[in-house]
Amino acid sequence: MTTIQLRSKSDGRLRAGHLWVFRDELANDPALPAASLVTVVAADGTSYGTGFYHPTSRIAVRLLATHATTIDTEFVADRLRNAVALRNRLLPNEPMRRLMFGESDLMSGLIIDQFGPVAVIQMLSAGMDALRHAIVEAITTVVPSITCVIEKNTARVRLLEGLEQREGVLTGMLPEIVESTENGLTYMLDLAGGQKTGYFLDQKLNRRVVGALSSGKSVLDCFCNVGGFALNAAAGGAANVTAVDSSAVAIDAARRNAKANNLDVALVHANAFDMLREASHGGQRYDLIVLDPPSFAKTRSAVDRARAGYGELNRIALKCLSPGGTLVTASCTQVVPEPMFFDILYTEAARLRKRLRLLHRGSQAPDHPILLGMPETQYLKFLVFDVVDD
Ligand code: SAH
Repeated sequence: MTTIQLRSKSDGRLRAGHLWVFRDELANDPALPAASLVTVVAADGTSYGTGFYHPTSRIAVRLLATHATTIDTEFVADRLRNAVALRNRLLPNEPMRRLMFGESDLMSGLIIDQFGPVAVIQMLSAGMDALRHAIVEAITTVVPSITCVIEKNTARVRLLEGLEQREGVLTGMLPEIVESTENGLTYMLDLAGGQKTGYFLDQKLNRRVVGALSSGKSVLDCFCNVGGFALNAAAGGAANVTAVDSSAVAIDAARRNAKANNLDVALVHANAFDMLREASHGGQRYDLIVLDPPSFAKTRSAVDRARAGYGELNRIALKCLSPGGTLVTASCTQVVPEPMFFDILYTEAARLRKRLRLLHRGSQAPDHPILLGMPETQYLKFLVFDVVDD
């Protein structure tokens, strides 16, 4: 195994538990093939363990273990056993859960979501891509109730490691629709056709918060995807629920899910910005509005665009709230940290001369744990405000 030496004083992040070595931190670049296993040593001789090397990505090494080890099926199975044990402790009896959250489970670049008998995997690094067979074997061994594994390797970050877009069944038979439950509600999921891994598991606990706040309210769920927040609101006794998404596939899925739960949700296929603008001009008001938009920015250079996007969205939503209404607002990009998100909301509310009061502050569900020392693993902000009227 090749040893890679770091430049002097460039191991501060690693000492704090970060798992990436950036290219400009290498003292010498061995230019090995992608997915080569290397050990990383600081200038003062401190060893940081073993990881996967990449010859062109800005992330030159992704650390996997603090000691020298072989990365094989047994290693993957071991990591997965630990990850599953954690989920069993945190979210027992949840058939839909994230089993493996990359760096937070010490498996940089690997995402595994479980939907009952089906696992959906994403490999975001060349190292994990090369481990594909070991990963499939580990999943079916460690979680025998999983009988089908599919890959949805369509994330654009794969391009940074020279990986192609690829999706399909890796083992077993994928039913056209997989039926499963979350928060006691039934979901009929088209895992092959859905966005990301098929369903956004990170909002699981936040959906319960919306359910608990919806009784008797008129609720608008913007960016509803397959209906997660809308269904929880309807099940929580909302007076009426409207949900909007710009994807026709998502709206069809939301309709299927509302029907499966015998819940009434008015589904609108539209751009949420346009719909809110029309509501604002037309005098339509809602008691509770959920904003769960896609990340407006993935890279630091797009921060200004993200600020503008969140600002505009929250501003028009605030205009559509009835007096004393509730704004539920999320941001799923780690380039907008929570203080910045608060600042955006404060600025927009002040502009409209409205006072916001924070009722609840959430983040990603605990099956997406946050690794301190690795800020990239903390991405979801979920804030609930009421508008204070006097
Ligand atoms: N709230 C969802 C997840 C939202 S993901 C849940 O609980 O599962 C973001 C969604 O926004 C996607 O479904 C995407 O189709 C939709 N979307 C993206 N741009 C949009 C726009 N301008 N208007 C409405 N929906 C949009």
